[in-house]
Amino acid sequence: MRSRFLPALTALLLGLAAHLACVPTQTENAITGKRQFISLTPEEEVKLGREAVPDMIKQGGGLDPDQRLQSAVQAVGARVVANSAAKLSGYPFEFRLLADRKVINAFALPGGEIFITRALVDRFENEAQLASVLGHEIGHVVGRHSAEHMTEAMGINVLVGIIGVASSNPNDPDRGQRNANLAALGGNLVNLKFTRDDESQADVLGVRFMSEAGFNPNAMVEVMQILESLGGGGVEWFQSHPNPENREQKIRGEIAKRYPAGVPASMTMGANLRRR
Ligand SMILES: [Zn+2]
Repeated sequence: MRSRFLPALTALLLGLAAHLACVPTQTENAITGKRQFISLTPEEEVKLGREAVPDMIKQGGGLDPDQRLQSAVQAVGARVVANSAAKLSGYPFEFRLLADRKVINAFALPGGEIFITRALVDRFENEAQLASVLGHEIGHVVGRHSAEHMTEAMGINVLVGIIGVASSNPNDPDRGQRNANLAALGGNLVNLKFTRDDESQADVLGVRFMSEAGFNPNAMVEVMQILESLGGGGVEWFQSHPNPENREQKIRGEIAKRYPAGVPASMTMGANLRRR
């Protein structure tokens, strides 16, 4: 998520102000096993995500009018969720193809709203490659990465509140400095993004979920090669994600760990997406 999506992200963060009173509690993620501090409930994640959907669709140039591809995105996403551990998360996943043909991007809102641009889907040959990217985004949702970072942002927000109160006193000798701090902290809120650890976990979960759904995970290696071949220009998924060359090696390792004797021949690359 970069500049073009910042207005929607800002709206999302403003929505968080309503949750200021919540105290983060430590929970163990049932699917990843990771201990996390999260002050939002899964229901609140779904609500916040849904509120941002119209803005995301607008920023992505609307929904893509190609019904064949739109259906393919929904069907492949639904197949991965229905046949993998992602289903146990209980999130109401929705998959949407955005009409943007210039910006190569895919992203997930908290709670299960997942988007992919036409520019990215047009690079894919088959459903398994599509499942790789959707599986990665499903991994961000199941890993509750946004919720985790929002909890951190709320911590900053509380701090902003405290500094804000102090600076409202006209006799405060440090008023100017406090207001500068306030502005700086406010600016940090829109920089909310996934960490490298989040990305690694999303790749591991993506390999897992797509494999459980019967898609050949080698397709994710192919996606990394496609991204590498594109270079950096206009590729938002590039800028917000680690170098695909490094990811490719880790993904290969993950596949080898899962299938030491090689990926079974029964696993599918799915239908050809370029068929007309
Ligand atoms: Zn990611």
